[in-house]
Amino acid sequence: DGMNIQEVAKKLHREPAEIIKKLFMMGVVATQNQPLDSETLELIAADYGIKAEEKVQVDISDLSVYFEEEDNEEAMVTRPPVVTIMGHVDHGKTTLLDSLRNTKVSLSEAGGITQHIGAYQIKINDQPITFLDTPGHAAFTVMRARGADVTDITIIVVAADDGVMPQTIEAINHAKAADVPIIVAVNKIDKPTANPDRVMQELSEHGLISEAWGGDTIFVNISAKFGQGIDELLEMILLVSEVQELKANPDRMAIGSVIEARLDKTKGPISTILVQQGTLKIGDPIVVGSTFGRVRAMINDQGRRVKTAGPSMPVEITGLNEAPQAGDRFVVFEDEKTARSVGEERMKRAQQESRSKQNRVTIDNLFSSLSEGELKEVGVIIKADVQGSVEALSGSLQKIEVEGVRVRIIHAAAGAITESDVTLAAASNAIIIGFNVRPTPQAKIQAEFEEVDIRLHRIIYNAIDEIETAMKGMLEPEY
Ligand code: GDP
Repeated sequence: DGMNIQEVAKKLHREPAEIIKKLFMMGVVATQNQPLDSETLELIAADYGIKAEEKVQVDISDLSVYFEEEDNEEAMVTRPPVVTIMGHVDHGKTTLLDSLRNTKVSLSEAGGITQHIGAYQIKINDQPITFLDTPGHAAFTVMRARGADVTDITIIVVAADDGVMPQTIEAINHAKAADVPIIVAVNKIDKPTANPDRVMQELSEHGLISEAWGGDTIFVNISAKFGQGIDELLEMILLVSEVQELKANPDRMAIGSVIEARLDKTKGPISTILVQQGTLKIGDPIVVGSTFGRVRAMINDQGRRVKTAGPSMPVEITGLNEAPQAGDRFVVFEDEKTARSVGEERMKRAQQESRSKQNRVTIDNLFSSLSEGELKEVGVIIKADVQGSVEALSGSLQKIEVEGVRVRIIHAAAGAITESDVTLAAASNAIIIGFNVRPTPQAKIQAEFEEVDIRLHRIIYNAIDEIETAMKGMLEPEY
């Protein structure tokens, strides 16, 4: 008990007012934030046809729920912007990231050793800015595809001597798709062949019109190599982030996203995470993607151990049971038991999903897989009672050709269908044909688990006909 009306309403997916009204009808006067005793909770539950013991089902394993929760306004404070650098190859992304890092590390942090953890933070007039260290839109989009929307500002670097190139346009489109504001850094301004006006001209054709030309895109001329224009670029980042009013509540259990993850031989799984809300602390029980654990140690981008990490701060953490993936989200839970059970549930779901995603080829989906172009050939594993049948079957199957698609024999041998045949079929997305043989009990179980199709025949013609008919899409439905 102890839940208040607002929380009860949320669990029941009802308006708090509706619950207050119901209670009023039952003779209980309550306000939204007043904790309710168990008796009253039972009354409400009974009224909605729920036994109080059965907790109302919220899917606590769905991490996205925690990202949608609204924080109350008073708790929100300004947080540093998270900046990604994109642009065409060789236009100076890495040089810019290095020069930003090397010149602008705040004095209090001096003496630390730069640690490449996938992101770093610098301070400008005491205002921190976080940079993601992996330039390019591939990393950006992979993260987004996995649910992580961490970038607040994108800097698109365009070399002034080269102009807009294919990956410049891709970068623009990725940033636009994510609805992230763009600052254009016109780089290599030191070069005699630099032509910033041409860059402006070319970018205007892609919807990025400079303020100088009456548009609303900020352009800054820089030389990443010689440090020119870097201060102005940083000022512009702070300006854009001020306009965005980036806020977070540091006083709650942390949530955020994975920037990078790897497996270290001695330390185990290591991941760089970026806190988006709340403050992450040593010892926090945590679920990251479909991994879980307790935050054992935290290291910042200076290689220093830290005890806490607040909003927009990247840290490298250890203590997870496995390495998560870039773009996975993390959520801190109240206790380790919950974190473990959520983590295990998510692992189970991830495994189920990856299995069904692989879309095993079967006789029934063969035609649609072929016509959708997912399949270029039909992989088959043949097992038969005698070598003569193995050869007869493979000879005939290899003669089949339907609209340019052929059968490829991955493996053919005499003997029962074993687990190793199933593993091979699963790995190469093949169908197993058994002629006068059966799968071993273990192979049968594994085939069911891996969803590998095993077809058993006693007449060679039938085995061949089944494959050919399936490839032509003329199978009679089985009842
Ligand atoms: P990235 O592929 O976008 O990460 O590009 P890099 O940062 O690796 O830079 C590509 C090349 O351009 C390197 O040889 C850099 O030294 C050079 N470069 C980068 N910025 C500048 C600059 O401002 N001026 C000049 N002259 N060269 C630069």
